[in-house]
Amino acid sequence: MSTFKAPKGTYDLLPPRSATFLAVREAISTPLRNSGYGYVETPGFEDVKLFSRGVGESTDIVSKEMYTLTTKGGEELGLRPEGTASVLRAALQGNLHKLGNLPVKLWYSGSYYRYERAQAGRYRHFSQVGAEAIGAEDPALDAELIILADQAYRSLGLRNFRILLNSLGDKECRPVYREALQDFLRGLDLDEDTLRRAEINPLRVLDDKRESVQKQLVGVPLLRDYLCDACKAYHEEVRALVSAAGVVFEDDDKLVRGLDYYTRTTFEFVHDGLGSQSAVGGGGRYDGLSEMIGGPALPSVGWALGVDRTVLALEAEGVALDLPTATSVFAVAIGEEARRILFGKVTELRRAGVAADFSFGGKGLKGSMKDANRSGARLAVVAGERDLAEGVVQLKNMETGEQRAVALDDLLDAVRAELA
Ligand code: AMP
Repeated sequence: MSTFKAPKGTYDLLPPRSATFLAVREAISTPLRNSGYGYVETPGFEDVKLFSRGVGESTDIVSKEMYTLTTKGGEELGLRPEGTASVLRAALQGNLHKLGNLPVKLWYSGSYYRYERAQAGRYRHFSQVGAEAIGAEDPALDAELIILADQAYRSLGLRNFRILLNSLGDKECRPVYREALQDFLRGLDLDEDTLRRAEINPLRVLDDKRESVQKQLVGVPLLRDYLCDACKAYHEEVRALVSAAGVVFEDDDKLVRGLDYYTRTTFEFVHDGLGSQSAVGGGGRYDGLSEMIGGPALPSVGWALGVDRTVLALEAEGVALDLPTATSVFAVAIGEEARRILFGKVTELRRAGVAADFSFGGKGLKGSMKDANRSGARLAVVAGERDLAEGVVQLKNMETGEQRAVALDDLLDAVRAELA
């Protein structure tokens, strides 16, 4: 082992498990790419003010968990704790919203950083695939995103997840609710920290997981009862469209999220096999965010799904993905001349699009055949001096054990025929 280890709260993705991560990213992005979402990639760090303004100064993500740094040039930067603020910043900077077609639909995939208390399913470096639909207020767009996330999870074979749905109201009705909630919270027996939170960000108290807090929340005013007519109608339409697609959800009156920018539609995907870190993804509408970061009014909606927790959810459900084996053909050469020739053949196979590997390291026949087995290849190409003197190689089917001589020049065709 090296004297160094991956930093606390992080882990390395290594084969073979890493293949599942790639497959999860692929499965989540496929329905998006199929629905008009274009790929966006932004830097891993941003002006720290983008996050303090966009995500919210009072959120845990910004106040406690953000990795910040001052560069030698004096810039204050933050490692991105989430994707939405950066993606919206990039869309505005690139003037995508002025090109005519609203909504601008974007998807992304990348690493995010939060200085959290590390535990199973909660890391300081994690990976998300996300989607944002920028610049349209249309309940069908909220519904589309919920339906696409459901489709992504189902395509992976996940079954034990639930969709929680709520509306957080808008700038008309939420302030009225906020006050009613604060009045209620002020009358409870809460610790100092929580009372402070009730003043700054009272909706977050609803999300407090502690039993001592939850049991006092019986009878708490619910936003549902304060929604204005426009928010109510919008929410009903989202619910109807999602239901019509056959996607089952649960109304969750207490669902809020850890970011300040959400308005109206809010949702979370939870998996029942993950213990306390049960959220595998979440998102919602953020109609005010663009203005908060200096842009024009651009009502938008999006989600981010956690890749790490989705993999854990697959493992919890015992779902084995049907991953294509990386190598189709494994070449085993005995002797120097054979090595040279077979290495050339491997190159030729690869250039023809066949996934091929070679027995490196100058091993004997036995060791090389072990490598061939381990590679999972369906075919082995074996050749020694005697074969080559006859202008042939031995093509072995690793599943049946059958072996036959194939002329060197016909190898590509023979391999293709066997793999077909
Ligand atoms: P959030 O923006 O906090 O709702 O995050 C969206 C999704 O990212 C969550 O549902 C998780 O699946 C994932 N996620 C967030 N924070 C972490 C973390 N610290 N470790 C692993 N996954 C995370």
